[in-house]
Amino acid sequence: MKVLKFGGTSVGSVASIKTVLNILEKEVANGKNPVAVLSAMSGVTNLLAAMAEKAATGQTFTADLAELERKHFDVIKALMDVQAQNPVFTKLKIYFNELEDLLQGIFSLRELTAQTRDLVLSYGERCSTFMISKIAAQQFQNSVFVNAADLIKTDSSFGHAKVDMALTEMLVRNYYYENTDKLLFVTGFISSNEDGRITTLGRGGSDYTAAIIGSALNCSEIQIWTDVNGMMTADPRMVKKAFSLPELSYTEAMELSFFGARVIYPPTMIPAFLKKIPIRILNTFDVDFEGTYIKHDCAASNLPIKGISSINDVSIINLEGSGMVGKAGFSGRLFSMLAREQISVILITQSSSEHSITFAIPPADAVKAQHLIEQEFELELAAKKLDQPQIEPNLSILAIVGENMKQTPGISGKLFHALGRNGINVRAIAQGSSEYNISVIISKNDMAKALNAVHDSFFELLNKTLHVFVAGTGNISTTLFKQLGEHAAFLEKNNGIQIKVVGVVNTRKMVFNSDGLSLDNWKETLEASHQEASLDGFVAEMKQMNLPNCVFADNTASPKPIEYYDAIFKSNISIVTCNKIGNSASYEQYKTFKDSARKHGVDFYYETNVGAGLPIVRTLKDLMMSGDRVIKIEAILSGTISFIFNNFKGDATFHDTVKIAQEKGYTEPDPRDDLRGTDFMRKMLILARDAGYVLEPGDVNIESMLPKACLDAGTVDEFYQELNNENQFFADMSAKAEAEGKALRYIGKLENGQVSITLQMVGEDHPFYTLSGSDNIISFTTERYKERPLVVKGPGAGAEVTAAGVFADIVNVGA
Ligand code: ADP
Ligand code: ASP
Ligand code: MG
Repeated sequence: MKVLKFGGTSVGSVASIKTVLNILEKEVANGKNPVAVLSAMSGVTNLLAAMAEKAATGQTFTADLAELERKHFDVIKALMDVQAQNPVFTKLKIYFNELEDLLQGIFSLRELTAQTRDLVLSYGERCSTFMISKIAAQQFQNSVFVNAADLIKTDSSFGHAKVDMALTEMLVRNYYYENTDKLLFVTGFISSNEDGRITTLGRGGSDYTAAIIGSALNCSEIQIWTDVNGMMTADPRMVKKAFSLPELSYTEAMELSFFGARVIYPPTMIPAFLKKIPIRILNTFDVDFEGTYIKHDCAASNLPIKGISSINDVSIINLEGSGMVGKAGFSGRLFSMLAREQISVILITQSSSEHSITFAIPPADAVKAQHLIEQEFELELAAKKLDQPQIEPNLSILAIVGENMKQTPGISGKLFHALGRNGINVRAIAQGSSEYNISVIISKNDMAKALNAVHDSFFELLNKTLHVFVAGTGNISTTLFKQLGEHAAFLEKNNGIQIKVVGVVNTRKMVFNSDGLSLDNWKETLEASHQEASLDGFVAEMKQMNLPNCVFADNTASPKPIEYYDAIFKSNISIVTCNKIGNSASYEQYKTFKDSARKHGVDFYYETNVGAGLPIVRTLKDLMMSGDRVIKIEAILSGTISFIFNNFKGDATFHDTVKIAQEKGYTEPDPRDDLRGTDFMRKMLILARDAGYVLEPGDVNIESMLPKACLDAGTVDEFYQELNNENQFFADMSAKAEAEGKALRYIGKLENGQVSITLQMVGEDHPFYTLSGSDNIISFTTERYKERPLVVKGPGAGAEVTAAGVFADIVNVGA
């Protein structure tokens, strides 16, 4: 025999009630009659609680009463034959009249006791269960409505009554054995005390009703039918990537539900555990789902933890003072007093010096608890042996749960790493002595971000989501978005990384979407956005959205975004940039960025600052990290100038060659940044700094290849005019090199801490002679690579390779 419990949503609509009846039909067809335990229709318990509250504060509740009536009557009209409807309407009408009288009483007295509140709430389960038993009677003649208040006996702790198991088991068994041929529809949640007054088992208590009855009857299985696919790794409304667990132990289920996974009510596990009765959580809205088994002999699991749960709103109280040190019984006195006053303590941490105790409680009880402590410890407070108790509101608890935690080292490290990296401050930590649970208290604002970040880090079999904010919508970003779109599926499959572009800003507009902007029409979306561009606003929103695993990609060539880098690191957001301006300004700024990223545990990647997508920065970093020392770096790092000299031949003028380079996207917006050597200087400077040298931009010796008139020209157009006047100068230079059988090369060098960039004519024997197109070449002479330098060569400019480099850096943040 099985007990089947159907939750609020399962009995909340015409369609779902039909499914419930189908489920019961299958069970009945299998032989033994199941016992059905039903909740109130979804939303009804909350509505009743609100009505009672309104009555007690002198507000009208008639509209709510009408709503309640309509909700039930609509179901009856839809699911019952017309002739059968009247008696059911009549009985429900009686219930509603009683309820109205009761509320009227509360209204007159302006008083709502826990006892009266339980009575009000009980109408939810009584109405739904009576109604459904009558709907079912059309199909199963032996249907019977059972008010569980007659069977489940409790003490008088209204609101969360304790069950008298022995008496209850006897009553349940007697009733059941007198009605074995019947199909019982039992109200969940409600019970009664020894005087016969209605009590309730606590919010969510219908699950518990099912377990109490199942245990009394030694049933073969307790089924909890709800609206999700069983117990999931986290609340699916908060964590989109949560997945269903096939099975867990009673302890695991209890810990998860105690810390907020309300899919099952924690006490439910106790009677089931004692009798080793399996509980199965099933989905009324997906009847093919196999269910989550909560049982005694779970198969070994390879998941380090089973799930993450959370309690959204708690307050903590801190108690500090010398009066607690070595005082046996202090915490005993504190917690027994709170228990006596029915304040449930969710979590406790105590420092090993016994100097302070921190505990978490529901916010509604905080002020009461504070006053109680002030009374109880009046003397200690007066003698200053105890500081005034402090309440900290607006906090949440996040707990990771799993029996495997015990055997697996590094679990807490992983938890704190995920939280720390995302800038989530931990207020207090508690580990259950069973080691099945580690709980942390964090700010309520950080809850969604924390859950997702922790979920990503523990369930890495799943995809990790990177949230990317992009500045700039020029060539690089456009190409990057195209590449991201094309490689999304591959990345997800092979690297387990999902990249969502969640914000874009250019000089005019900005747009955000925490679910990820569509990369097919991002341009239109940005155009249509009503938000004016503002970097202040953009950075503030990045912070405000508070998403996990965030990256800011600066794809501009502007000094503006750089002003925000430090603030961005402080918000625990990684930065990927192809913008060289930041790293090549003052050394102090370069160092600040590095330090700030390190301090906040985030990444700062700028591979594309040097040689676009070529692995130059990374190679140097690897050499340095492995203890090598740079002796000399020689490089052609201006893809632009390479392109220009390689194409400046035959009839082409220098002016036209530069123009073509610009049109092909090989130059900076102002080509003089390349030709003047500024861009090259920046790259050499960054490399020299990465190689460990403290250098300022002025320390680099640059030989400019441009005549003065070109350098002095105002706008880019004026520069081109001047360049046109200088064609002869460049033609002569080229002719000279050609006559000697040499090639013109603009070469950067770092040696003995000195950086220089000079225009040279190199012969066929020089390794840089054969460089073609816009290629870059760099040779590292180091302690390890002394005889033959380590050479990296390849395309070092262009939107495709630069965007690919940015892409690789973003993926590296996720690695
Ligand atoms: P019922 O009315 O059927 O008793 P509840 O609303 O009490 O249903 O519980 C089901 C809800 O529990 C789900 O809709 C889901 O939002 C929430 N929930 C919280 N944590 C979890 C979790 N870890 N797994 C599944 N559901 C969860
Ligand atoms: N109806 C009750 C509640 O909403 C009990 C339950 O659904 O389990 O808390
Ligand atoms: Mg529930």
